Parts: sequence; C-alpha cells; structure tokens
Amino acid sequence: MPTYAEIINRMKCAATANYDEREARSLALWAVEALTGADRVQLLVDPHREVEHVDMEEVERVERELSEARPIQYIIGTTEFCGLQFAVGEGVLVPRPETEELVRWVVDECPTARRILDIGTGSGAIAVSLAKLLPQAEVAAMDISEVALDYASRNAAANGVKVRVVQGDALSDWASAFEELDVVVSNPPYVPESDRATMHRNVRDYEPELALFVPDDDLLRFYRSIADGATRALRTGGALYFEIYEGAAEQMIEMLTERGWTDIELRRDFNDKNRMIRCRKR
Ligand code: SAM
Ligand code: GLN
Repeated sequence: MPTYAEIINRMKCAATANYDEREARSLALWAVEALTGADRVQLLVDPHREVEHVDMEEVERVERELSEARPIQYIIGTTEFCGLQFAVGEGVLVPRPETEELVRWVVDECPTARRILDIGTGSGAIAVSLAKLLPQAEVAAMDISEVALDYASRNAAANGVKVRVVQGDALSDWASAFEELDVVVSNPPYVPESDRATMHRNVRDYEPELALFVPDDDLLRFYRSIADGATRALRTGGALYFEIYEGAAEQMIEMLTERGWTDIELRRDFNDKNRMIRCRKR
C-alpha cells in the first residue's frame, strides 16, 4: 500500500495543471481525506504512514478528474455549507462561502420568521441551512431546474429538515403561489456573460450555465422580477435578502428605491466586495 504522502503528492501533481501551488496542496489534502477517511490532522501529523485501505481505481479517477479541473466538490460528490453536508454534482451550483454570510444575516435579523422562501435554491444550501437554524420556520425552496430540485429535496432529507420544494420560474409570475411571507431570500444568477472568458475552468467548464449567467445588458433581470413578485408575496414589513454581483450594487439600490422598498442596506462579504442587500416591504 502507498503512504498518505505518496497519494497526496499524486493528487497535488494532478491539480497543479489547473491551480496554483497552495490551492493544489489544499485540494490534494481534501481529496485524500475523502479517499481514505483520514482527517486533515492525521494527514499532517503522520504523512509517511502506510494507508491501510484505499481503492486504487478511485485514486486514479480522482487524480484524472483533478487534472481535468473538475471541481473537487463534484469529484467527491459533497461539500460543506453552514456546517452541514450537501450532496452536489453537475447540474447544481457548488454553494459558495460568501453565501453563508447571507444566511447568517437572515438568521441574525429574523430569528422569529415563520414563512421563508428561497428562490433559485440549487442544492438547497440556503433553504436547508435556514430550516436547520430557524426550526420554527416553514421554509419553501423554488428552482426552475429539476436537477436542482432533486438535490434540494435529498439535501433537506439528509439534514433532517422539512423544506417544501417547488418548481417555479423566477422570471414569470412566481408570486401567485405565495402569500404573507416573512422573508424572501435569493442568490440568483448574476454573472455577466462577458465574465465567462476570465472565469476559472473549473467553474466555466463544469458548473451549470443556468445557475450563473445573465446578459451584460440586463444584469438585474432576476432581481427586478423577484422584487416585483416579493411586493405581493411578502407581508408588510417582510424582508427581502439578495446576494448580488459586486459591480451592480448602485444599480440595485436605485432599482429597489424606485420600486418603493425601504430600509435598504448593502453589505460587503469577507473579500470586501459589495455582496448582499436587504430591504423591506413598506
Ligand atoms: N441558492 C443556491 C446557492 O446559493 O448555492 C444556488 C444559486 S445559483 C447562483 C442560481 C439558481 O437559480 C440555480 O439553481 C438555477 O437553477 C436557478 N435558476 C435559474 N434560472 C431560474 C429561473 N428562471 N427561475 C428559478 N430559478 C432559476
Ligand atoms: N459567486 C458565483 C461565482 O462567482 C456566482 C453565483 C451567482 O451567479 N449567483 O461563480
């Protein structure tokens, strides 16, 4: 049997084709944890120990997929978000750490919310985390993608929470199915098409276009439609939370102000980028 260090090194070499040194090492450790069941501390403390059991065909698969820039979360089929495990794969966006900050914001400000809707739920990351952290709330999760809805349902069940998963189109009249909501939250597609060229291969070649892109000349298309629907679906004083494109903060504030939303607040994420907005229905 190989040692942990030998497998880590193979993974790192494979990842080096697509990632810088630090990232490649971190991905290698992540991959070996998943392959062997060892935790990171064990790997760092005693890397020259022989691995007792590992499936060498799996080692080869993971190595090949890292060299092809497939996201590590798809390779191992799972990721962590808000301290919970989420199954992910092609067809569903890998939840991002900045989105955890959006969840935290909702939890901090709406500890007694009873009715919450997450629009464009993807893996269910936001909806399932909110259902877990706010156990008194009824949480619904909407997406247009069947693959996403399937992941969201499975992730709710696996994390032991009830989420009402519904298919719906955020760009049409989605609000007729909801009323008297306390909170609407959404991380809709917001990446301008023109950013595609500069995106990392692991996102561009593997993650769903449907989850990512909007036309350059209509960056707010989802936000307008979601805000308009939320005017009907929220109760008076109910809150709307968005994750936003860092370059669209001003346009967003203008759009929400024009439509009569109050109590508008913009927040930065841990990378110091304008990333989230909250506003309330008057
Ligand atoms: N909420 C998840 C998260 O934060 O990780 C996924 C967010 S992803 C940026 C956007 C989601 O919106 C995708 O799951 C995509 O399928 C969904 N979506 C795209 N177009 C939609 C539409 N017209 N109506 C509803 N959902 C849509
Ligand atoms: N933050 C994601 C990215 O940069 C995009 C998420 C979104 O479009 N809402 O890949």
